[in-house]
Amino acid sequence: MVVAIDGPAGAGKSTVARALAERLGFRYLDTGAMYRALTWLAMKRGLDLGDAGALADLAREQPVLFSEDGRVWIGGTDITSSIRETRVDRMVPVVARHHPVREVMRERQRELGRDGDVVIEGRDIGTVVAPDAAVKVFLVADREERAKRRIAERPGIGADALATDLRLRDESDAARMQPAPDATEIDTTNLEVEDVVDRIEALVRERSAA
Ligand code: C5P
Repeated sequence: MVVAIDGPAGAGKSTVARALAERLGFRYLDTGAMYRALTWLAMKRGLDLGDAGALADLAREQPVLFSEDGRVWIGGTDITSSIRETRVDRMVPVVARHHPVREVMRERQRELGRDGDVVIEGRDIGTVVAPDAAVKVFLVADREERAKRRIAERPGIGADALATDLRLRDESDAARMQPAPDATEIDTTNLEVEDVVDRIEALVRERSAA
């Protein structure tokens, strides 16, 4: 079974998807980490981030690897922490908007999600990567709350800069951030992680019983 969890930055996707996967004994796939890893490598190599062809080639040649212990690798380097740096936050949408890049990534995501039970987190999972997913959830939260959560994760960056980054990323990601028509929207603004996980678990149980 595929559980698709989509939504904007700071809506709680990663925390919720991880906890849900753990609770259900499903695998967890973070597709944002894949776009981040590619962006990190392209920046390291000094590639032109406007060159869709070169970026798609790089994505094909250097697949992102997830190790058993949840670490993220590309080109032989463990980039688990580096992909969360602010400079990567800012450049990912520039890389992720190229269609040839998305084609390579989506194909790989489908391969990684093919066998067994998996929770897949991203922006376009319920719409494009796994339109047949058994459960589709679209998480949202007030922008203020999302900024607050991001501050907790990125203590080095000021509140104003962070709010601006979030707004710019929302704008860049907007085209790819439509909920699937059959997705269940959950507003996480006033919910605890456990409550959100409970709700999605209930949807999974419903589908399993059906
Ligand atoms: O979810 P996360 O914040 O790690 O995603 C980083 C960026 O990767 C997003 O802002 C978006 O530009 C891109 N992304 C995407 N499609 C996905 C997952 C992430 O375009 N499925």
